[in-house]
Amino acid sequence: MTIRDEHAAEQIRQNLAQVREKIAAAAARAGRAASNVRLIGVTKYVEPLLARLLVEAGLTDLGESRPQELWRKAEQLADLPVVWHFIGHLQRNKVQRTLPIATYIHSADSLRLLGEIEREATVLNRSTSVLLEINISGDTAKHGFGPQEIEPLLPQIATLAHIRVLGLMTMAALEGGSERARRDFAALRDLRDRLKENCPPEITLGELSMGMSDDFEVAIEEGATMIRVGSALFEGLAPSS
Ligand SMILES: *Cc1c(COP(=O)(O)O)cnc(C)c1O
Repeated sequence: MTIRDEHAAEQIRQNLAQVREKIAAAAARAGRAASNVRLIGVTKYVEPLLARLLVEAGLTDLGESRPQELWRKAEQLADLPVVWHFIGHLQRNKVQRTLPIATYIHSADSLRLLGEIEREATVLNRSTSVLLEINISGDTAKHGFGPQEIEPLLPQIATLAHIRVLGLMTMAALEGGSERARRDFAALRDLRDRLKENCPPEITLGELSMGMSDDFEVAIEEGATMIRVGSALFEGLAPSS
C-alpha cells in the first residue's frame, strides 16, 4: 500500500470505530443490544479501493444504490467476503444482473418489480431476500409503497415463492431534521407492528431498514435493525467524483 492508502485506511478505521460507538450508545439508550443493529456501509460515493479498505477494516456488509456501480464494485471486490445489499431504485431490466450479486434488496418498491424478481429468482432456482420500501413521508419524489397501500397487497406478495420478505425499509423526509426523522421512523415501526397482526405466514417483518449518516442514531432508538451509512464512514477522505 502507498502512504496515501495507509492514511486512508487509518481514517476509515477511525470512522468505523466512531460509527460503531454511536451505534452502541444509541442502542444502550433504547435498551437494545447493539448486536441487533446491522451496519451496512454504503459505498456509492467512493472508488472500489476505499470500499476495499472498509472491508479490510472489518465491515463486510456493503450497500450500493445504483445497479451499474454494484456490478462494478462486486467484480473488483470479488476476492473479499462481501455481503451486498442493493438499496436504490431497481429498474426491471437490471434485475437479472443484480440478483446473483445482491444478497438483500432493500428497495422493493412496486408489485411489477417484485414480479420481475420472482421471475429471475425462479430461473436462478434460488430465493431472494427483500424488504418492502415504504414511502412513509409521502414525498412525491420518493419511491416506495404508500403506507395505506401495502396491507391489501401482502397476500399477493406472499404467493411469490422465490421471494422472502424480511421487513420494511424507508428513508426519512429530507427536510425537518432529526425530530421529523424520528416521527418517520416511528411511523414505519408502527406500520410494521400493525401489518404483523394480519400478515400471511410466508412474510416475516422482523427487519426495519432505516437510518443513514445523519439520522441513524434516532433510527436505532426507534427500532432500526439495519442502518445504511455512507458519508460518515468516509469522512475526511477525498470524494471520488
Ligand atoms: C446514499 C444512501 C444512504 C447513505 O447515505 P449517507 O447519508 O451518506 O449515510 C442510505 N440509504 C440510501 C437508500 C442511500 O441512497
